[in-house]
Amino acid sequence: MRVLVIEDEARLAATLQDLLELGGYTADVRRDGESGLDEALTGIYDVILLDVMLPKMDGFTVLRRLRESGSAVPVLMLTARSETADKVEGLDRGADYYLTKPFDPKELLACVRALARRQPELRNPDLLEFCGVRLDKSSFTLSCGERSVRLSRKEFDMMELLMLNRNLVLAKESLLVKIWGYESEAEDNNVEVYISFLRKKLAHIHAGVRIRTIRMAGYCLEEDR
Ligand code: CA
Repeated sequence: MRVLVIEDEARLAATLQDLLELGGYTADVRRDGESGLDEALTGIYDVILLDVMLPKMDGFTVLRRLRESGSAVPVLMLTARSETADKVEGLDRGADYYLTKPFDPKELLACVRALARRQPELRNPDLLEFCGVRLDKSSFTLSCGERSVRLSRKEFDMMELLMLNRNLVLAKESLLVKIWGYESEAEDNNVEVYISFLRKKLAHIHAGVRIRTIRMAGYCLEEDR
């Protein structure tokens, strides 16, 4: 289980990290809203602890952007302010739970445990996500932020394989066999054609990922840095 802590107060961030690590979690810390959001969008976290008052981007904005990207990761909001208005705002914007500072470490760990358990139900089995790019099986769409595009069946199958094997090299032959089958007449250049369709669609939705060609090896879906 991996937890992201987005908290600008150094001492509190370090305490939270220690506490989570003692509780058996891997914890990463980001100290401002912008880098916190970037990190949250990687999709590798099971739970996110999010402060409200943060430099560069406040916690409510981070939460809104995260939900707009389609992420359903459980978010526990932390704040020094105890006004009811803040709580209502946080919950309206998709926070799953709210803790007011100072909090009891036991209560915090109990919340993280509860949210981590809820994760499988929250996860949509029809949705794959990588670096803010979402592939939705229920609608055969590929999207990023507000932009989306419909895929043909073969494009979808290929994108699904690339996303399931993100950051790994997929051989052209294995794409060919998995998508067209052993018996098919399809040739290597069918794969190239569909890869080029997908690249155009990724560019169209302004995706932050790219399909890299690895000479003599195959293709790799990776973050476009
Ligand atoms: Ca703060």
